[in-house]
Amino acid sequence: MGMASTAASSLLVSQELFRRSYGSIGLGSSIPSFSSFKLSCRFSGSWKSGLVAAPIKRNSNPHLKNARYWTSSIFSCATGTSEPSMSTDSSHGGGAAAERVVVLVIGEGAREHALCCALRRSPSSGAVFCAPGNAGISKAGDATCVSDLNIADTSAVISFCRKWGVGLVVVGPEAPLVAGLANDLVKAGILTFGPTVEAAALEGSKDFMKSLCDKNNIPTAKYKTFTDPSAAKQYIKEEGAPIVIKTDGLADGKGAIVAMTLEEAYEAIDLILVRGAFGSAGCKVIVEEFLEGEEASFHALVDGENAIAMETSQDHKRVGDGDTGPNTGGMGAYSPAPILTLELQLFVMESIILPIVKGMAAEGRKFVGVLYAGLMIEKKSGLPKMIECNVRFGDPECQVLMARLESDLTQVLLAACKGELRGVKLEWAPEFAMVVVMASKGYPVASVSGTVIRNLEAAEAVAPSVKILHAGTTFDSDGNFVAGRGRALGVTAKGRNLEEARQRAYQAVETINWPGGFCRHDIGWRALPKNQFTEESG
Ligand code: AMP
Repeated sequence: MGMASTAASSLLVSQELFRRSYGSIGLGSSIPSFSSFKLSCRFSGSWKSGLVAAPIKRNSNPHLKNARYWTSSIFSCATGTSEPSMSTDSSHGGGAAAERVVVLVIGEGAREHALCCALRRSPSSGAVFCAPGNAGISKAGDATCVSDLNIADTSAVISFCRKWGVGLVVVGPEAPLVAGLANDLVKAGILTFGPTVEAAALEGSKDFMKSLCDKNNIPTAKYKTFTDPSAAKQYIKEEGAPIVIKTDGLADGKGAIVAMTLEEAYEAIDLILVRGAFGSAGCKVIVEEFLEGEEASFHALVDGENAIAMETSQDHKRVGDGDTGPNTGGMGAYSPAPILTLELQLFVMESIILPIVKGMAAEGRKFVGVLYAGLMIEKKSGLPKMIECNVRFGDPECQVLMARLESDLTQVLLAACKGELRGVKLEWAPEFAMVVVMASKGYPVASVSGTVIRNLEAAEAVAPSVKILHAGTTFDSDGNFVAGRGRALGVTAKGRNLEEARQRAYQAVETINWPGGFCRHDIGWRALPKNQFTEESG
């Protein structure tokens, strides 16, 4: 057994323990120290734990206000030409739950494609819609795409939900959440997985997030917020470089500038505060201490009061091999991430996730949805600090997490919407998962669009665990897949260890015929034996 697999096995042991002990952690729970655990483990098979779906009750959860629980076994009500046509999904197997919930996923990326796949295989899902979705989701039959539903028009989304008996809306991207889509859906009585605009401020305003960290003693980088460029530059001069400058608001993933010199930092201040390059998102800047270490992603499902830790993952944000070049929305990921030991996972739950959940509740902004903490495991202390807080799944991370999730996702998300996550435990495949992201050449700076992608069926046939997830692809007039700007494919694979998952994912990538696309060649490098990449390139 190689080094990575040994490490993986011990991590799996730890994760089994973690799950057994803390399937979900409520605000009042106290976590015993790591040393108090007793070992009891197994190395294969699925992680089994009970998931009990409780009946719907009205309670004080904001997401339940006026909520009706839509269940449906409708599969025959599609009429008219512009109507989506649904088909009964046989993948659930016969004799599954009598009442299945119709689900609508909002978004068009590979994250949403991954969610559609996981929801579709949930025994309690009925039809799965995705708005707008994309050509890949549609062609694979992973959801019924509703490309003409304008997700920015909340009354259109509500009408769609009423018409089709949607019982659960899962919002993928942050923009509709920050625009208040969940508020409107909840007000209309539709259970929605995703925070209200008030709670989405955790991602929509870095200043809000940082002050919440201050108030609740959550470990994060030291910072100050500025609207005045001269004051910001004075502070930068005092602190020195490297230093990090961030826009307060959402800036399409481009609002964090890691300045290695004072000049770069001053230029970032001018760009944001003087020249207004990010519009209203840049009315305030956060000037933050530069943290040195390794990044990892931590996701937790939250129901307003309780949080369940998900499996760990690690993303690759930079565009180039060896973590070089500009930041992107993510060029690949894998799960689990060995750097996040059980001890660190407990630390993150105790010192980051639960204080956020508690702090948000205390502010009258109960959080329902997925909290995704971007962590820096600091080199000097070996402990994680939160460098970003997102109110939705990370895109590549979601792809590997959903590849490994074995629980009935629909039931779990409904439980979150109803404030009933306490006692819910998640089941995970014991394998490793990896995603290699393929993007149009030029991404993230100036990517071309409209190039044709071929050979995807052959790529998916490389191994049974290979699944290609699409982001914003369309069809040309000959029925070929066409890439948009930016990321287009998430090539996911599972394996008994990270090496096997990686080998399968890259074999699938090599089978894809897409001259207009590219990918990184070193996904997983931090967790794989160091000589692997040098041997291959030699
Ligand atoms: P953010 O937009 O806050 O997610 O930051 C984007 C990326 O910038 C992160 O993934 C890190 O690579 C880097 N970054 C953000 N904040 C810091 C920090 N305080 N120290 C070092 N790197 C950072």
